Amino acid sequence: MAAYNIVDHEYDVVVVGAGGAGLRATFGMVQQGFKTACITKVFPTRSHTVAAQGGVAASLGNIGEDNWVWHMYDTVKGSDWLGDQDAIEYMCREAAPAIRELEHYGVPFSRTPEGKIYQRPFGGHMRNFGEAPVQRACAAADRTGHAILHTLYQQSLKHKAEFFIEYFGIDLMMDESGCRGVVALDMATGTIHRFKAQMTVIATGGYGRAYFSCTSAHTCTGDGNAMAARAGLPLQDMEFVQFHPTGVYGAGVLITEGSRGEGGYLTNSNGERFMERYAPTAKDLASRDVVSRSMTLEIREGRGVGPEKDHIFLHLEHLGPEVLHQRLPGITESAKVFAGVDATKAPIPVLPTVHYNMGGIPTNYMAEVIRPLPGQPDATVPGLMAIGEAASVSVHGANRLGANSLLDIVVFGRAAALRCRDLIKKGAPHRPLGKDASALALSRLDRILNANGSQTTAMIRKNMQRTMQNDAAVFRASKTLKEGMDKMAQIAGTLADLKLSDRSLVFNTDLIEALELENLMACALATIVGAEARHESRGGHAHEDYPNRDDENWMKHTLAWVDDKWQVKLDYRPVHAYTLTNDVEYIKPKARVY
Ligand SMILES: Cc1cc2nc3c(=O)[nH]c(=O)nc-3n(C[C@H](O)[C@H](O)[C@H](O)COP(=O)(O)OP(=O)(O)OC[C@H]3O[C@@H](n4cnc5c(N)ncnc54)[C@H](O)[C@@H]3O)c2cc1C
Repeated sequence: MAAYNIVDHEYDVVVVGAGGAGLRATFGMVQQGFKTACITKVFPTRSHTVAAQGGVAASLGNIGEDNWVWHMYDTVKGSDWLGDQDAIEYMCREAAPAIRELEHYGVPFSRTPEGKIYQRPFGGHMRNFGEAPVQRACAAADRTGHAILHTLYQQSLKHKAEFFIEYFGIDLMMDESGCRGVVALDMATGTIHRFKAQMTVIATGGYGRAYFSCTSAHTCTGDGNAMAARAGLPLQDMEFVQFHPTGVYGAGVLITEGSRGEGGYLTNSNGERFMERYAPTAKDLASRDVVSRSMTLEIREGRGVGPEKDHIFLHLEHLGPEVLHQRLPGITESAKVFAGVDATKAPIPVLPTVHYNMGGIPTNYMAEVIRPLPGQPDATVPGLMAIGEAASVSVHGANRLGANSLLDIVVFGRAAALRCRDLIKKGAPHRPLGKDASALALSRLDRILNANGSQTTAMIRKNMQRTMQNDAAVFRASKTLKEGMDKMAQIAGTLADLKLSDRSLVFNTDLIEALELENLMACALATIVGAEARHESRGGHAHEDYPNRDDENWMKHTLAWVDDKWQVKLDYRPVHAYTLTNDVEYIKPKARVY
């Protein structure tokens, strides 16, 4: 093994990731006096949260009556009854205080004429238990994530959090007591850093890049999920992948659901507003899985638009240049740049595109990572938390409602910091690390750095992305899932034949992309194997051979362990069929009506 230059650090808390979730946690930890390090592979304000457009949900009722119980009902229904209702109650209740807090921290929300936070309608968010759409998504024009991320970074700096920027987290340090910290590579110098911590918080975001066409940034490679998997921990509900109805055709770039919230609508080649047929009440604002499937059916039945009849039109031109300029300036620009369309005059060509990962590292509503033990489905791992898109709390269950993720990252980022008050002590001394603490990370680094096979990272990545796109898509079937699983096993096998051309440790993007590819592979395998096993349709998982939801057999969370031979083992744990308090009753499963 190469002689690595190793630097040791000791902190109360180390947060891996500086997106909305990581920054909210970091800043909360520092506020409580914990010595906190935040490590991030990209500059904090370049995290994918910056791209979030439409809004963050909270029942403020600024434009029409609203309350958190309705929000909870919509979230449970959106989750297709796979969400844990104690966690959903917590999130929806905490939403209003969390948004007011963001406002006080300085997030420049758009305003109503009276000066209140502007709220727009969003898919699946309804008034009075599904009666009619409600305006619940708090927005800063169509740059809500940008506004939140910059504010949280500024607050973190103000509170003197310590940042380690362009540090790549490789693996967790685990021992029999639980998690002891994380090993990271300083990409600029090639130095290895071991961050010892009483609490390690994984906030590394999603893994959209396992697919060929997605709205997420190139950095969304599921690094934290894979770190957990390599530490022998399960991943939860990975088969649930959300397709956003409106990615720009050909480019995958997102056109926010807020555009339909503002009155945009979809048409097929007959010029028909087909969503009225599929979802008579919510129409174009039905939840994302429903709209994506309806679009796919229209295209399959020959009613797609364009020369190949392979996409759908999104109309915004009737809203007028003033509304587009004021409320949707970013997407008007995206339409021009990525589709060559002037949205004030013509419809935008769109197609369902991978957008969000409902699955991730299982946690309870206090952000603690769950590793089930016999008879204890909710046992936790000492010293380890997960938040944001990397986690599965599970508030989104089988399908996330729009605007609920920006909410999830701030609510559970904050919850992680609050929970640390009970779990750890400021400045407590660290036990020495075992001598093998960084062995997993270093041996992996060494193996990849010296990989001398015949296939490049780009080749293997493309094979993986194509297979996932074709065989684990909006609609799934036993035959294609099985074929996809076999292909993926074979593609994962080709990682043994990886070739790296750059063997230095200084800004070696070849090395980083290979590490990321291994991380994506673990996530992709858990996704397709979990999907193949789930014989029902629920939320984002639409199975053509099992078109109905099957609560009797399948109202349970999938757990997937991925081992170092890329074998996936599945098990299941119960969904929390109870609420957190007596203020609200458990919402019983029923058929979803739109
Ligand atoms: C285009 C787009 C639009 C969206 N719009 C909305 C919206 O309007 N409303 C809504 O609610 N949701 C929206 N979402 C979803 C939401 O934005 C994301 O789910 C959420 O921002 C994820 O936040 P996060 O903090 O978990 O992760 P991210 O913001 O992805 O941050 C991940 C962080 O982890 C770091 N990291 C990752 N791996 C490593 C590693 N190995 N070592 C060190 N650091 C690492 C990265 O540097 C980064 O700082 C949108 C998503 C997309 C893609």
